Amino acid sequence: MNRIPENPALAEGGHRYLVVSDFDQTLSFNDSGQLLAEMLGIPGFHEKISGLSRSTLVNQGAELAYLLRHDPEFRGVRREHLHAVGKQVPLKDDVRMLGRLFERSIGGNQFDFYVISAAPREVVQSALEGIVPPERVFGAEFRWDDWSGEIGDILRVPAGYGKVAVLQELESRLHTSPDRTIYVGDGSSDLYVMHHVNSRDGFTVAVSKAKSIGRIARRTVLSDNSLSVLIPILEDLLGWDARQIRGFFSSHGLALQDWDKIRTDWLTFHHEDGAPAAPPANELVLAT
Ligand SMILES: [Mg+2]
Repeated sequence: MNRIPENPALAEGGHRYLVVSDFDQTLSFNDSGQLLAEMLGIPGFHEKISGLSRSTLVNQGAELAYLLRHDPEFRGVRREHLHAVGKQVPLKDDVRMLGRLFERSIGGNQFDFYVISAAPREVVQSALEGIVPPERVFGAEFRWDDWSGEIGDILRVPAGYGKVAVLQELESRLHTSPDRTIYVGDGSSDLYVMHHVNSRDGFTVAVSKAKSIGRIARRTVLSDNSLSVLIPILEDLLGWDARQIRGFFSSHGLALQDWDKIRTDWLTFHHEDGAPAAPPANELVLAT
C-alpha cells in the first residue's frame, strides 16, 4: 500500500493528524439502514437489528451488512438502491464546511479527514459525494454478483474490531503516530475503536448523549452542527482558548452562537431495603 504524502502546507513545527469519523448519526442524523428499509418497504427493521444485537452473532454495527447478505427481504437490494439511499440521508449542518476546513492547515497543523462506517460504502460515498473524496470513505464492502446484481458476499465490515483494522491501515499509510489519531463517533460500533485510540494516547470525541460512549470518549460535544467536533480538537490538542476559537470560526464567516459547557452527572438510586424509591425508578441528572 502506497504512502500518502504530507501536504506541502504543513508548517515547520506543525503536526500531521489523522481524523477519523463515523458516519451514521455522527455526520448524519439518521440511520442509513432504517432509511433503506423504509425505501424498500421492509417492516420491522428495528426488531431485526435488536434481535441480531442480542444474539451477538455479528459485531455491533455490522447488523445491516449481515441482513443485506442473509435476510431474504433484503435480497432485492442493488447497488443503485444504496446510492439512492445515500442521497436521502440528512447530513448534519456544515459537513461540507468541515471537510473544507480539514483540507486546509489549522494553526500550522495538517488534518487528514477520513470516514469509517459500518454502513455500506456505496451509501456513505453517495451521501458525502463532493464533500469527502470517495477514496477517503471506508464502509461495508460486498461482492456483487454480475449475473443477478445481488450481493454475493460480504468482503469487509468496518464495525467493532473492523474499524480498528482500517484505522491502523490508515496510520501506516499516512506515517502518523497513534497519539496523533482523532476518532469521532456516536454509538456502540465505535466503542472498540475508541478504547483502542485512547489506549495509544490518541484523542476521542463522542457526539451523542449515550452513556456507554460518553464514558469512554475524552470529550463529548452535542450539536446539530458537525463543526462542533472542532471545538475539543482546537481546545485540547492545539491548546486554543475561547477567544482564538471564536476568531477562527469568524475568519470563516461563522459565529459561534451558543456554547454551554455543562458537566453532567448521571445518577440512579436504589433503596437498600428493597422498598421502592420515591418517585419510582428515579434517575437524576445533575447539570452544573
Ligand atoms: Mg454511528
